[in-house]
Amino acid sequence: MPIYEYRCNGCGKEFEVIQKFSDKPIKKCEHCSSNDVEKLISQSSFVLKGTGWHQTDYAKKDSSAPKQAPSPACAGCPSSKGGH
Ligand SMILES: [Zn+2]
Repeated sequence: MPIYEYRCNGCGKEFEVIQKFSDKPIKKCEHCSSNDVEKLISQSSFVLKGTGWHQTDYAKKDSSAPKQAPSPACAGCPSSKGGH
C-alpha cells in the first residue's frame, strides 16, 4: 500500500498515512483536528523506517532485567491484592 503525505495548515505538521488506492484522502488533521489538511505529492518510495527495532530492544531489556519478586512482607498484606 502506498504512503500518502499530508500537511496540516492548522498546526503545520506533516504526517504520512498508509492508505489503499480506494481510500478517500484525509480531511482532518490527526494532531490538532483541523480540517485544513492538504495532500502532498510524495516522490519517496515505500520505506520502512526501522520497523521492529524497538521491539527487539524491549525484548532484550525485558529478558535481562530481573523480575520483581513480590515482597515477603506484603505477601499477606490484604491491601496489596487490590493494588494491582
Ligand atoms: Zn494540525
